[in-house]
Amino acid sequence: MQKIRTYLGIEIKYPKTAFFELSSCEGCQLQILNKEATLLNFLDLVEIVNFREVMSNRSNDYEIAFVEGSVTRADEVTQLLEIRQQAKTLVALGSCACFGGVNQLKNRFQNLEWVKKEVYGNHPIETQEVRPLSDFVTVDFSIYGCPVKKEEVEEIVTNLVLGKSIEHPRYPVCMECTANGNICLFNLGEPCLGPVTRAGCDAWCPNNRMGCWGCRGPADDANLRQLQKIMDDHNIPRQAMFDRLECFGGFTSAMKEMDR
Ligand code: SF4
Ligand code: SF4
Ligand code: SF4
Repeated sequence: MQKIRTYLGIEIKYPKTAFFELSSCEGCQLQILNKEATLLNFLDLVEIVNFREVMSNRSNDYEIAFVEGSVTRADEVTQLLEIRQQAKTLVALGSCACFGGVNQLKNRFQNLEWVKKEVYGNHPIETQEVRPLSDFVTVDFSIYGCPVKKEEVEEIVTNLVLGKSIEHPRYPVCMECTANGNICLFNLGEPCLGPVTRAGCDAWCPNNRMGCWGCRGPADDANLRQLQKIMDDHNIPRQAMFDRLECFGGFTSAMKEMDR
């Protein structure tokens, strides 16, 4: 039965919510279950009707669908289209769903048959070019990150439930990193994609003395040529920059304009 509550006299419904995974490591879903301190508050926002990692009940009656993972098989296309048909709101959860994620590194191999043979030997599997959800269906909202950050998911879900607008930070990770008082890793000889990557993770990696790999994709107006100049000025090999830019798939379009 749908729970009903009110806020300032206005009825607020617990939207029926489902979680699904396509090709993924399921780390984004795990993030949501992480941190028991806020899990109950999160569960109080929605009525979860599908979440294979935590419950055995299944239902095809849902309003919000969170879809993790990228599309790599024909049956995933069918599943995704069915989810889209049912859900009022479809949310791409994590970098795999948004950009292809680490899975899309596979697309660089020209000869996939050779790769399949090397990896799976005499146990052939069906796999095709890795693509993000938006190549097949309309995505209403994207939550970036590999994995997503639980606090951000909770904030986004709260806004969705209250019907408030949701906006991603437009600025890059450097803004959060600097606000946190970190020493810039370029000064320590470490490459970092903070200048071009969309903020929202609170500079998770630089806070821990690791350069950003760009898992949240490009910030608005990301200037990759300027990033290249920063890398050159710090004598960091170009390949180190390209390895990072290619890792999650978020910069694929932006990179077309760059000199290799
Ligand atoms: S975005 Fe990262 S953590 Fe999330 S499913 Fe993909 S690989 Fe796993
Ligand atoms: S460490 Fe990275 S994110 Fe932090 S200020 Fe330097 S370039 Fe920006
Ligand atoms: S610092 Fe960069 S790689 Fe690390 S979580 Fe944030 S966006 Fe992702």
